[in-house]
Amino acid sequence: MTLQQITSRVHVETAHLGSNNSIIVGDEQLILVDSPHRPTDAMQWNKTVSAFGETRFIVNTDHHPDHTIGNFWMGGDVVAHRGTRERLLTDAPTDEYLRDLFARIDPDAVALVDDYSVRVPNVVFSEELDLHVPGASLELTFRPGHTANSLLAWFPQDAVIFTGDIVCEAGLPSFQDSRLANWFDAIDAVAEHDFEYLVPGHGDVADRAVVDHYRALGREVVSQVASAIAAGHTRDQACDEIRFEDNIHVDTDEYVGYPDSLVEMFQRRSIARIYDDLVEDPSLANR
Ligand SMILES: [Zn+2]
Repeated sequence: MTLQQITSRVHVETAHLGSNNSIIVGDEQLILVDSPHRPTDAMQWNKTVSAFGETRFIVNTDHHPDHTIGNFWMGGDVVAHRGTRERLLTDAPTDEYLRDLFARIDPDAVALVDDYSVRVPNVVFSEELDLHVPGASLELTFRPGHTANSLLAWFPQDAVIFTGDIVCEAGLPSFQDSRLANWFDAIDAVAEHDFEYLVPGHGDVADRAVVDHYRALGREVVSQVASAIAAGHTRDQACDEIRFEDNIHVDTDEYVGYPDSLVEMFQRRSIARIYDDLVEDPSLANR
């Protein structure tokens, strides 16, 4: 564990496999951003945060398992965009998927699957929602980008923006639930905030430079796919040919990452998504 204090009220854990997990400390209560991916991390995280106060809210920046599985072991109301609740209700991870996943990333948790149930957000919003606890307020805005139900969480008091996977510091996440136009619009929306610290969905806490760097990484993949289309390659060919660096789902010193087959599937779906969006609107290659 490497809990980092960013400002007087914001603490961030960047060493969990899966999403970054943040604490905003009010006078007595807490607002948390994203849940740990591994159950054993989630149980430990719930203990860690309780030392700072009582969890009042936990925000899910999107529905992906690496941001939501840990909800089950955390306190407070779970808050998200309404589409996140919807996706978790309709595409809930199956027990079989969870057993496979935990056997890989968290073997001690395999036995917990029998008692596990997906804890879906019970407080949802469409466009904007402000969360208040004494001493701290967090502004949530619907911002489709990484997913159709992503959000930005802005903590103006300390000029901290929590971007979820709209901006990552550790490289590119999957594009499988993205639309390319939204993907770029969401990055622009992040840049419009007057933030001092950017807490990404994955990777280290960053400053403004990360936004341009991240946009450039995205452009690079998009331009590779655009070139494949221009060369007359089919979608399947493009999926065979193009790969981007995935630093998000891979091994760390402490954990074994996702199996190669899953990472491969994320990559193919991502390239397919970009290919389809570019065929529909070739001007996206110039974003
Ligand atoms: Zn993520």
